[in-house]
Order: sequence, then C-alpha cells, then structure tokens
Amino acid sequence: RCNSTLANLEASRVQIELTNKPKSRPDLVDLKFGKYFTDHMLTIPWKAESGWGTPKIHPYGPLSIEPSASVFHYAPCLFEGLKAYRDEKGRVTLFRPDMNMKRMNSSAARVALPTFNDDALVELIKQLIRVDNDWVPNKAGYSLYIRPTFIGSQPAIGIAPSSEALLFVICCPVGPYFPKGFKPVALYGTTEYTRAAAGGIGAFKLGANYAPGLVAQKMAEEKGYVQNLWLHGPEHHVTEVGTMNAFAVFKHPDGVTELATPPLDGIILPGVTRDSVLTLARDHALGKAKVPGLTDKLKVSERPFTMREIKEAAEAGTLVEFFGTGTAAVISPVDRIGYLGEDIHIPTGPDGMGPISRGIWQQMVGIQTGAISPHPWSVVV
Ligand code: PMP
Repeated sequence: RCNSTLANLEASRVQIELTNKPKSRPDLVDLKFGKYFTDHMLTIPWKAESGWGTPKIHPYGPLSIEPSASVFHYAPCLFEGLKAYRDEKGRVTLFRPDMNMKRMNSSAARVALPTFNDDALVELIKQLIRVDNDWVPNKAGYSLYIRPTFIGSQPAIGIAPSSEALLFVICCPVGPYFPKGFKPVALYGTTEYTRAAAGGIGAFKLGANYAPGLVAQKMAEEKGYVQNLWLHGPEHHVTEVGTMNAFAVFKHPDGVTELATPPLDGIILPGVTRDSVLTLARDHALGKAKVPGLTDKLKVSERPFTMREIKEAAEAGTLVEFFGTGTAAVISPVDRIGYLGEDIHIPTGPDGMGPISRGIWQQMVGIQTGAISPHPWSVVV
C-alpha cells in the first residue's frame, strides 16, 4: 500500500444536504446539558485502503454501524468538547479550536486510529456551525457545545487497528454552568479507585476513561459530595477534579502567592482551560499582560502536590484557593474536600470565588464572549 495515494481530510470536498424538517428550538430557560441537538451533523468516513472520504453535513440522525464494529468491542473511541459563543454584535466565535484538534489527533494516535489535518476539521466545524447558525444561543452565559467524536467502525471482531473509522460532529445549545452565580463545590478525595496510570490513557480524551469514573462519582455523591477528586499513588497526589483539571493556590511566607497545577506527566488530561489559565497567569506574572485584580507577587507552577500538602496548608491558613478548570464551567471553585474521613475547608469569597481565580475567570470569559476582542484565542466562525 502506498501512503501517498491515501486521501487527506479536505474541507473543500464537503457535501451539504439541508434538512427539510427543521426542529423546534428548545426553551433556553431550563435547557438540559447535552439533550437537544441541532438540525445538522458532520460525518467523515475513513478507510485504510483509501484514506479520508467525503465530508458530509447532513440532517442530524442515527448512524448505521454494524454490531461487529470495533468501537463496540475494544473501544477505539475518542471525543472533544468545545464551545461556540455569540458576541454582542451577533458574531460567532470558537475558543482555541486548534488546541482541541491537537488533543484529538493525539487521542486518535493512542488508539491506532488515523490522524488528520487540524485546519481542515476546524474549517468543517465552522461550516457546520454556519449551517446551524441560528442554534447558537443569543443570550449571555449560553453557548453552542460542539462534540467531535471519532470511532473505529471496522466490521470485524479481530483485535487490530481498525481498518475503517468514522469521525462525526454533533452540537447542542447549552446554558451557564452556574446559572445563579458561583456555587463552590464539595469534593470527595477518592482513595478507592484510580483514574489513570503512567503509560496508560489518562492524558487522552478517550471514551474508555469516562465509564470507569462513574462509580467514583456515584460514591462521592452517596457520601454527600458534589464531585470526586482523583488522587494518585501512595502519597495521594492530587490529579483531577472529576472531569476538570485541578488547581491549588498557596500563600508562602515570603509573600508570594503560588498558583499550582499538576504537571502533564502522562496521567493528566491536557485541558484547554488549564493551558489558558496558566498562560494568562504567567503573562501576568511576567508583566506581559496584566490580569486586573491579580496580585503582582504571583508564581505559576506546574508541579506535583499531595493531599498532605493541601491539608497542612488548609490547617495553617495558607491554602488560598482550590478549583477545577474545564470547558463546561471554566472555573469551578471548591470549598470543601472530604479526605480519609475528615473535611478540609477551603476559603471562598462572598461571590463564591477566590482572589486568584476571580480575575482569571473574568479575563477568560471576556475573551470567550467577545468582550475582550480581538484576541488570538477567539476564532471567528
Ligand atoms: N480533565 C478531564 C478528565 C476532562 O474530561 C476535561 C474535559 N475535557 C478536562 C480535564 C478539562 O479540559 P478542557 O479544559 O479542555 O475542557
């Protein structure tokens, strides 16, 4: 087989079939996350012998996949999550879609699925959003959630790299994560289960990472907490907050405030929000671009920290904040962590946020919603 004859993913080959049965728009008031999908979807087939097939934008509907398809047996399945925002001028933008494409390609490579041209998929996603443009909510705090998914669809049950695959993208309007202002969450430090291991799949956005997390989340809820906190190894290193990256803020005796998050050492998902928070905070610390309201004595670290460090800092009054970051909530403040039968209490301000995350959150949301514009992270659809 000569690789040079395989077709690349090309946005210019797209075929568009519009629906003749547009759906009624869901009521934005009590919009359930991930329940109402737009009129159209994007599908792109791939075959080992011919490469990427014709991208199609067509009415949203069921897929036809054989029961023997590899995805149902060995789980070659990965996905992404990003949002399109409508700004005050009516313009629709995506937030750092290049980062999602990069992560999607690295997830694909991890489960022996083919990679693709990042720019081509961004262009096709833009075209899909243009077709479903009036599904992008025109209301502050609301957005269109975009879910690119990629599965192995080879109709044969041998364990081997899938010789056929299907990439598809669906979209759904979503509401604000915190409709009534920030509500800090209580976490349960999970010592019963492990999310990821060195050399495993924790750094990739594979479907296989999520089903096994449900029991940990269920246990956290049964114990009266909102979300589980993933810990790792005998020293209980903090890794992730449910499906968000974890950040802690420490006050040091020299007056320096340290914003810390675990390093990307193979067991942490490289979050787009994580990277954005780090970049904004670092630019502030270096004096390159100030984040309003943030202390000048800021140190930004990607370093491991353990539950012991969190507990001791909380007891000493030097734990300033603890929060999760992710596309859904942007920043989710934490006010309590249940750990080995005790509760660790973490301060939050009257608005539910802390002194470091507050300014960063405002900056992030300003960029996402077009209040801070133009910005290289905000890509016009
Ligand atoms: N960690 C996990 C395990 C996740 O599923 C997510 C959500 N994609 C994140 C972190 C946050 O990533 P992002 O900021 O890209 O949404």
